[in-house]
Amino acid sequence: MGLVVQKYGGSSVADAEGIKRVAKRIVDAKKNGNQVVVVVSAMGDTTDELIDLAGQVSPIPAGREFDMLLTAGERISMALLAMAIKNLGHEAQSFTGSQAGVITDSVHNKARIIDVTPGRIRTALDEGNIAIVAGFQGVSQDKKDITTLGRGGSDTTAVALAAALDAEVCEIYTDVDGVFTADPRVVKKARKIDWISFEDMLELAASGSKVLLHRCVEYARRYNIPIHVRSSFSGLRGTWVSNEPQGDQKVEHAIISGVAHDVSEAKITVVGVPDKPGEAAAIFRTIANAEVNIDMVVQNVSAASTGLTDISFTLPKSEGRKAIAALERNRGTIGFESLRYDDQIAKISLVGAGMKTNPGVTAAFFEALSDAGVNIELISTSEIRISVVTRAEDVIEAVRAVHTAFGLDSDSDQAVVYGGTGR
Ligand code: ADP
Ligand code: ASP
Ligand code: MG
Repeated sequence: MGLVVQKYGGSSVADAEGIKRVAKRIVDAKKNGNQVVVVVSAMGDTTDELIDLAGQVSPIPAGREFDMLLTAGERISMALLAMAIKNLGHEAQSFTGSQAGVITDSVHNKARIIDVTPGRIRTALDEGNIAIVAGFQGVSQDKKDITTLGRGGSDTTAVALAAALDAEVCEIYTDVDGVFTADPRVVKKARKIDWISFEDMLELAASGSKVLLHRCVEYARRYNIPIHVRSSFSGLRGTWVSNEPQGDQKVEHAIISGVAHDVSEAKITVVGVPDKPGEAAAIFRTIANAEVNIDMVVQNVSAASTGLTDISFTLPKSEGRKAIAALERNRGTIGFESLRYDDQIAKISLVGAGMKTNPGVTAAFFEALSDAGVNIELISTSEIRISVVTRAEDVIEAVRAVHTAFGLDSDSDQAVVYGGTGR
């Protein structure tokens, strides 16, 4: 008998009908002879609504209470799903992240999983139950407080449980038919990818393709857990993400795997920084001490007349306030003239292992953006990715132009979005 872990995202369980539909799928997997562990997200946009609510009572809510609040979303869906399965005549038990043995560090709102001890899940399975686990949450090892894993964290819960339980596969059910060459909400001519390597998927996820979370792919690669991303609304086969293609999984051998975009970042420019050793170190130590993760960094050439330079970097919008406050507090020791904050930016990334060996990809990328009249503000590259920052208002046009320029458009408008609000 095989063990499968299935994860259902918020759009798949958005209402009672959705929960009943998902319950049938889960029961089918059980009837096919599998032991089934299900990880479930909060219903629809519940998490966003809870965040809005917190903001109405406190501008910067305490991390511990914020996590306590957000985990309530997943508790609602796990209990309802277990009820719906029982109603179909099958045994199911729901578990919070803590009960499922998801142990994390104590960084609230973006905790990391440090261990998974799924004893209760094993027992539930051995007793013939379907185990339903609340995604996106755990319990901190030292303080025993409830933590959350960061937005989209249910993907990580699913892969972590799959690894701990030695599952054959981790199925991620969502509102599109798999991983596409671009976000199907933006590019109707995006193509579904049959198989993609962990390596390319990691870069796509890190660049904003929220169909899979970056940490989840990292985890899957480390423990070599194949992921099957597919729709909970259709019976279609989705996208396999793994080290090597298996069986009939098609490899495209394209130079480019896809185009990703991200509008969740902002840009801070530290203006008038003395061009001498230690300045960048002081700025980024300040940011690191505030526990803010940064993405791209650019330092301008200093003006000869003043010996001053500007340093720009990007970071999640949600961390903007914290970063600005930390820099302001340390203004005296760092020494800069002013700070500029810009949250009207977008990042567009082109990803594909083939670019390592194919000259001209960068040129073609910049030409496509230029033909679309899109101005580039920052550039960063890795071996298999090129990213640019542009104005937020240009993002849709830029993604479509790049997708077309690299021959990624499909012949048909096949990309279907079944649900969700894209929030
Ligand atoms: P869930 O609620 O199931 O976790 P998410 O909203 O987190 O779903 O992720 C699915 C969404 O990811 C899709 O609706 C789609 O808009 C978006 N997305 C972004 N890039 C891609 C891509 N390359 N392929 C598929 N979906 C993508
Ligand atoms: N409910 C959480 C969120 O919206 C976690 C998840 O869906 O994966 O971010
Ligand atoms: Mg998600």
